[in-house]
Amino acid sequence: SVCTGKEGPVWSVGEPHGSRVESVKVALRIRPLVKTEIDVGCRLPKEPQVSIGKNNLSYTFNYVFDENEGQGKVYNLAVKNLIENLFKGYNLTILAYGQTGSGKTYTMGTNYNGEGELGVIPRAVYDIFDIIESRKEDTTFGVTVSFLELYNESLYDLLTDKPREQSIVDIREMNNGICIPGLTELQVQNVDNALAILKEGSSGRVVGATAMNAASSRSHAVFTINIKIMNKTNPKDVIASKFHLVDLAGSESSKKTGATGDRFKEGININKGLMVLGNVISQLRDGQHSFINYQHHNCLLFEVFRLSTTFLLSSLRQIPDNPNNMTDRLIYIFRPLKIALCLNSLHDIQLY
Ligand code: ADP
Repeated sequence: SVCTGKEGPVWSVGEPHGSRVESVKVALRIRPLVKTEIDVGCRLPKEPQVSIGKNNLSYTFNYVFDENEGQGKVYNLAVKNLIENLFKGYNLTILAYGQTGSGKTYTMGTNYNGEGELGVIPRAVYDIFDIIESRKEDTTFGVTVSFLELYNESLYDLLTDKPREQSIVDIREMNNGICIPGLTELQVQNVDNALAILKEGSSGRVVGATAMNAASSRSHAVFTINIKIMNKTNPKDVIASKFHLVDLAGSESSKKTGATGDRFKEGININKGLMVLGNVISQLRDGQHSFINYQHHNCLLFEVFRLSTTFLLSSLRQIPDNPNNMTDRLIYIFRPLKIALCLNSLHDIQLY
C-alpha cells in the first residue's frame, strides 16, 4: 500500500531481536508504483517507513527489498539458499502476505505464463532440478507437484481435468497431520514439465478469477513440490521433503473495499482465516502449549496453514542440535512470524 500520511517508526534490517534460530525469516518487499498510481500522482518517498496500527512500534525484518530490487535479487537473497535444505529432509514453506495489488502473485510467480521476470516458484524449480542433475550418479529422485486453491472456504484442485465446480477436494485428519486424499499429485521429470504444470494450474486460477470477478485477490493458492530422494547403494535410505509455496489472498478489510453481499462474505472468510492463523501462532509464541488444539479452528485457511506448520514443526524436530526445550525454541522461531502476522491487519499498515 503506498500512501502519504501520518508519521510512523522506521523499520530496520537484521536479525529480529532475540532471534537465535533462523527457522523463520520475514522479508518485506516494496513494489514500484504501477501506472494507475503514477497517473493519480502517487510517489514513493526517499526514506520508506512502516507504521503498524496505532502503536508507535518498530519492527525488524530479515530482509527489506525496495522498489528497485528485482525478482532475481529477492529470490537469491531470501529463498535460494534454503533450497539445499529440502535435500537434507527439511520441509520448507514460503507464505506471501499483503493486500491485493501489493505484489504477492508477482513475487511468488503464481501467475506463471512463461513471460517476464520469473517469480519465486519457477526459480525454485530451476534450482531444484539443478541439484537433482548434479546428484544423479548416486541418487534416484522422485518429484511430484500439487496445486490447490482455497476460495471462500472451499478447496479446489488446480491440476485436475474436472471442471472447476467438480474440482473441490476435502481435507482429512491423519495421525501425523492432515491429508487431502483427492488432490492430484503429478510426477515431474524436469524443469519444463514442472513449469508447464504451473502454467496450466495458474491459468485455471485466472479463468476462475475472470468468471468470479477478480477472485484471485480473494483466493489462497498453494503450490507444493514433494521430493523423494533414494540412495542408489542403499535403497532403504530414503529422504522425503515438502516445499509449500503459498500465495495468500488479499488481506484488505471489507470496510476499506466497501464490499457487500458475497464479496463481504468472502472478506469475512479470508479475515477469519488470517485471524485464526494469528491466534495459533500467538499460542505457539507464548510457549503455553506444546500441543496446539486445532479442533476449534473450523476454517480452511487454517487447515492449509496447519499442513504447512505440521511440516515446519516436524522439520524442526529433525534439526540435529535441537535442544530439549522445544517451547523455548518455538518462541524464538515464531517471533518473527508473529511480526509478519501483525502486518496482516493490513488496513492498519501504511508504507509511505
Ligand atoms: P497481489 O498478488 O498482491 O494482488 P500482484 O502480484 O498481482 O498483486 O501485483 C499487482 C501489480 O503490480 C501487477 O500488475 C504486477 O505485475 C505489479 N507488480 C507487483 N510487484 C511488482 C514489482 N516488484 N515490480 C514490478 N511490478 C510489480
